[in-house]
Amino acid sequence: MTAPNPGTGPGAGPGASPGKIHVGLAGIPESTDVLVIGLGITGSGAALDAASRGLDVVAVDAEDVAFGTSRWSSKMVHGGLRYLARGQFDVAHESAVERGILMQTTAPHLVHALAMLMPLTPATNRGQAVIARSAIRAGDLLRLAARTRRETLPRPRRIGARQTLTLAPVVRREGLRGAILSWDGQLEDDVRLVLAVARTANANGARVHTRVRVSEPTGDGAVLTDGRTGESRTIRACAVINATGVWAGHLVPELRLRPSRGTHLVLRKETLPGVRCAVLAPVSGSSNRFVFALPQPDQTFYVGLTDEEVDGEIPDVPEAPEEDIEFLLGVINSVLQVDIRRNQVVGAYAGLRPLLDTGSTTADISRKHAVLVSTTGVVTVVGGKLTTYRKMAQDAVDKAVQVVGLEAGPCRTRTLPLLGAAPRDRLAALDAPERLVRRFGIEAAHVLADAIERTGLTEAELLAPIAPTLPATLAELLFGITHEGATTVEDLLDRRTRIGLVPADVELARPAAERALALLA
Ligand SMILES: Cc1cc2nc3c(=O)[nH]c(=O)nc-3n(C[C@H](O)[C@H](O)[C@H](O)COP(=O)(O)OP(=O)(O)OC[C@H]3O[C@@H](n4cnc5c(N)ncnc54)[C@H](O)[C@@H]3O)c2cc1C
Repeated sequence: MTAPNPGTGPGAGPGASPGKIHVGLAGIPESTDVLVIGLGITGSGAALDAASRGLDVVAVDAEDVAFGTSRWSSKMVHGGLRYLARGQFDVAHESAVERGILMQTTAPHLVHALAMLMPLTPATNRGQAVIARSAIRAGDLLRLAARTRRETLPRPRRIGARQTLTLAPVVRREGLRGAILSWDGQLEDDVRLVLAVARTANANGARVHTRVRVSEPTGDGAVLTDGRTGESRTIRACAVINATGVWAGHLVPELRLRPSRGTHLVLRKETLPGVRCAVLAPVSGSSNRFVFALPQPDQTFYVGLTDEEVDGEIPDVPEAPEEDIEFLLGVINSVLQVDIRRNQVVGAYAGLRPLLDTGSTTADISRKHAVLVSTTGVVTVVGGKLTTYRKMAQDAVDKAVQVVGLEAGPCRTRTLPLLGAAPRDRLAALDAPERLVRRFGIEAAHVLADAIERTGLTEAELLAPIAPTLPATLAELLFGITHEGATTVEDLLDRRTRIGLVPADVELARPAAERALALLA
């Protein structure tokens, strides 16, 4: 093992938080115990798992942290209801356990309980309602089996029409028989989780670098190329973990993936006035498929989700096709009093699920993950979901350690809080701006203090919304640059914040992003 990286590289000021993401090849050693390829949730998780076992780790991404599928999710931490409905009890149980770990131990600052309302309108037939009610009851038993506390996720229940309309005044009134109210975990944002995991990996000694592309991986090394300078060199590694999601087959050709596309719409908050919870609408003809309207912390709603098999080249940024948009609007409108029109859709995004080709159709392929060792010794971890990243990482590192006989400690991540994490009562009592606490947990006060120290700007300037309709602040953009590896306007607007999901907002936010980059140039 080589000397650990203390995680306080360039840009870390006096009193800086630990956990820093670096950019480019500089600082990457000639050899390491474990090379992790990809900094989506899976690779970031593997880097944290390996580093916290005492291994020397280099983890890289060709682009940016969370550049791939991890930023296109529904931003939910699932209890696995959907899998239960399909009889996949092991997948459902694993999801429920991991949801509890995230909400109660490792990331309470980034995951909160979201009320989910399934209105019983004429669009929901009695059969669908019975199935949904039984599945939701079973989901609560899973919560219990996973030892997730009732204060973390309240008990599901049937509510009457009046209470349904209090929670969601836009629900269709004719024939409304009430609703089923249940609870699940919701992320502040998926990229915030990936960044917290990647930074925690660095704080535990992993070297975490973006804009470094890997090619020609084998079980004992690979070629690294700096995406900015074009410089290439090799790295030797005792073990190589391929966590490149839908691109996994590019590095290990014997792998066959069949991506499936999931599309979401973005609506402004005022499109669904007064709605304080998620609203579910059944897909006609299916007993366990729903379209969700999910309220977001940043004054928007996301409406998802499709599940369509896709062929051909994997694009860097998948497009949301018009037919997906029409489909989602049609289903969600079926439970609403007013029709949401196409021109009220202010953004749309699509992501590709990295599903293993098992011969059946993708919609039926289990969301279970797989860990596979290639003929050259590369360990690939693929599939799964954001919710189960910790278990995926544990399984991948266990396999890598076993394959090459590395000496490593036991997995520690079940009880290892991510940077910023603290119990909910401590988070609630923090004397720091609410938005920063939601995004940085107990690091919130430091995010502000660090920005003041580096720029000399006042607290008021650093905490003001960057535009009248955009709640993001200059303080968090600056932290994105100093600690989270952001180097471009796109890094700041598409990943450190999610302003890029609404194209019309990008131009409003660009001056603040450019200012943040200039202040630290
Ligand atoms: C539409 C949709 C909604 C979803 N919603 C949820 C949800 O609500 N909850 C949930 O738990 N899960 C959800 N999931 C599942 C979850 O998002 C994915 O399983 C997960 O994000 C996959 O992460 P990953 O790290 O494996 O892949 P990715 O996030 O795609 O990361 C792979 C990384 O590898 C990098 N890379 C590729 N090639 C190279 C190379 N040669 N060298 C270096 N780096 C490279 C890429 O730049 C990328 O950053 C959803 C998935 C989709 C598609």
